[in-house]
Amino acid sequence: MCYAIPGRVTSFNQETVIIDYFGEEKKAHNDFYELKVGDYVYAQGGFVVKKIPPDEALEILSVWKETFFDLQEIDLRLSRLNLEAQGIPRKTGLILDKLCEGRPASKEELLYFLNLDDPFQIELLGKSANFVRQKNLKNSCCVHGIIEISSHCSQRCSYCGISAHHQSLSRYRMGCEEIYSVAFDAVEKYGFKALVLQSGEDAGYQTEELAGVIRKIREELGALIFISFGEISIDALDEYYQAGARGFLMRFETSNPVLYEKVRPGNHLETRLELLRKAYEAGYLIITGALIGLPGQTPEDILNDIHLANELKTEMLSFGPFIPHPSTPFACEKKPLETDVLKTLAVARLCSDPESKILVTTGFETLTPQARKTGLMAGANSVMLNVTPMQYRKKYCIYPHRAHEDEEIAFQIQETISLLKSLGRAPTDLG
Ligand code: SAH
Repeated sequence: MCYAIPGRVTSFNQETVIIDYFGEEKKAHNDFYELKVGDYVYAQGGFVVKKIPPDEALEILSVWKETFFDLQEIDLRLSRLNLEAQGIPRKTGLILDKLCEGRPASKEELLYFLNLDDPFQIELLGKSANFVRQKNLKNSCCVHGIIEISSHCSQRCSYCGISAHHQSLSRYRMGCEEIYSVAFDAVEKYGFKALVLQSGEDAGYQTEELAGVIRKIREELGALIFISFGEISIDALDEYYQAGARGFLMRFETSNPVLYEKVRPGNHLETRLELLRKAYEAGYLIITGALIGLPGQTPEDILNDIHLANELKTEMLSFGPFIPHPSTPFACEKKPLETDVLKTLAVARLCSDPESKILVTTGFETLTPQARKTGLMAGANSVMLNVTPMQYRKKYCIYPHRAHEDEEIAFQIQETISLLKSLGRAPTDLG
């Protein structure tokens, strides 16, 4: 299975290489390889992550060539939009028209969408977001793998099932060799080109140890590596970058500083934001976002969350529902509605940078079984598959009954590919 299309290097512009994909040219940074014109590479998130032998690349490309343009056509057909249709309220039609043309909407107008409760108009909002996604990003859909390396956590976040509140949880910490071996299978056996390594805030690892495994994955396997270990030190951030990590995943959870201190007692929003800014300055791609449906959160908070994610120059926005966990202080709080999540994804698509990727989260899939499809049809264009070994999945219980927790990775891949094909999406990131 392939989660990127091989591209051919056509020219250089200092650190940047120009890569051709069936006639379409894209730029990518080359931090890791000696390259010349004519070489074949995989790129992810704007980085060359692997150089591949030409015969292997040509074989993969010959398979892709048959479907590449067919998929684009299906996507184009499914993303058509008619804002002239009967029964569309005038105000809704006018604002959507403006957003679909790439013109900005006011705060009041965006809030109007987040407050919608008419299913017909919510559907129209999602369709408009899908139209804009297709217009700006065509049919590419990132499929990253996530390995949850440790469920130990020293934090006491009020919502989180692996926080220190959950005293009865049987916890695990994968050793570095085990992490490498899981990454090896993910890349070599299953074809992932981008991997997220995630954990609670676990003091049980030394920075050098994790840097060592990152370096080994980077050098021996060739993949884009995201780290997601929570609030690490600036030194650790630099060390992981030196080791070859190029992505940083950490949600700010909420942009409302008062709410933040309620849901993450003893922590400050500004500290988290400062680290996200430092990571961006250091050269990391940023994945961040917020929880939807936290107790006391308002639609205005959500809109501010979307704007904050954009201010942080986010490569991929990650917005997912809060789902109550019985062993946390928020056990009895309500989860949000499916439409709350869909509205957020759609508004995020309509007011974010045109190039932004938007994730359909596992949280959303846990809230509602059709979420992956509905999310992808409402502005999202990325998914993450859980590559964590089966014996650990239930122990990484940030919330209960997580979608796919009983599914082997091979099965998840099969399901994902068939869904993406039916929607005309190519499981690729063209750099
Ligand atoms: N230590 C890392 C990873 C935390 S777990 C960090 O701090 O970034 C990954 C994400 O799970 C969190 O960012 C949070 O947004 C999400 N999460 C935790 N508990 C949740 C819950 N009850 N419902 C939905 N998402 C939750």
